[in-house]
Amino acid sequence: MQFKDLEAQYRRLKPEIDAAIQSVLESSHFIMGKPVFELEEQLAEYVGRKHCISCASGTDALQLSLMALNVGVGDAVFVPDFTYFASAGAVSMLGASVIPVDIDKTTFNISPEALNIEIKRVIDERKLTPKVIMPVNLFGLPADYAQISRIAYKYGMKILEDSAQGFGGSIGCQKACSFGNISVTSFFPAKPLGCYGDGGAIFVDDDELKSRLISLRAHGRSADDKYDNIEIGTNSRLDTIQAAILLPKFKAFKEYELDAVNYIADVYTDRLSRVKNITVPYVPDGYRSCQSQYTVRFKDESTRNRVRKALNEKEIPTNIFYPRGIHQQKAYEKMNWNSSLYPNTVKATETVLSLPIHPYLSEADVDRISEIIAESV
Ligand SMILES: *Cc1c(COP(=O)(O)O)cnc(C)c1O
Repeated sequence: MQFKDLEAQYRRLKPEIDAAIQSVLESSHFIMGKPVFELEEQLAEYVGRKHCISCASGTDALQLSLMALNVGVGDAVFVPDFTYFASAGAVSMLGASVIPVDIDKTTFNISPEALNIEIKRVIDERKLTPKVIMPVNLFGLPADYAQISRIAYKYGMKILEDSAQGFGGSIGCQKACSFGNISVTSFFPAKPLGCYGDGGAIFVDDDELKSRLISLRAHGRSADDKYDNIEIGTNSRLDTIQAAILLPKFKAFKEYELDAVNYIADVYTDRLSRVKNITVPYVPDGYRSCQSQYTVRFKDESTRNRVRKALNEKEIPTNIFYPRGIHQQKAYEKMNWNSSLYPNTVKATETVLSLPIHPYLSEADVDRISEIIAESV
């Protein structure tokens, strides 16, 4: 069994993907070929935004977005403590200050209450300018944008939505990647919509931000002269081959993969809800997750580890997303962040376990995994 079965997906889509790659080879437009623009247009339409700007990775998408928001030294960016390192790393790369915020213990997403407290603390300290809130749609579930938007408005801050794991999720009829002033996603192979290497995309409505991002991804070039560089940028583009691969994958994602993976999540939830001492993922009313991870919780660390071992013995792969909070990362050792400020993150790191999930997982496999969990818990 595989944690994410990319081979099963390739077997299903092989004719379309092979043809797409072949046609790029024959056109030899490897950089900024037609598929890149086609994909950008389709993605923007799907998430309901005016513009999509593709780039070389989710990390680059975050960094370019922070640059476009003029984030730098002296600015505070509020990031959930329980996330993949890239959310925080992108901020630090620009010389800005990461402010980790504890999570909500039921959704795993940034806690609006903790966010409010942290913003007030930064304002009172008068050392940094609170500039950006970066909610992460962790494991595929959109964050609480109703509350986060109110907080952003109150303090005049921007929202940068990290939807690297969240593409395809929604709240009501509004899709993930449409909740931030700027929103980003990642096409890393194991993400909900993945390519065959690295890739990412940025979504905005504002025309000026769009032009700025297009310039920044090509060394700050001016719009009408490639060799006239008007600011410092970087080189970050989505390869034409990756865009060509993403087009048929995106079609499958829309047509059946997103539904299939949600069905599998529902089967898990049905089976595991009958097991004692395990908490299944919570999806608030009106929310839809894209189920990039199916992450359950146990009552303590030793139970979690025991179940993980039992699954491992039956060759069922699992992961611990994530084993430590941002505040516990060695890279931030000098910050001396106190774990008592992040109780929900710390608890999550000790008790979570992510189970295999993807659109091609069978119900029989879910039954088997659930039985092993029930026996070992
Ligand atoms: C994967 C991920 C990123 C980074 O995306 P890459 O394409 O791997 O650079 C950023 N934030 C979160 C939450 C992620 O899961």
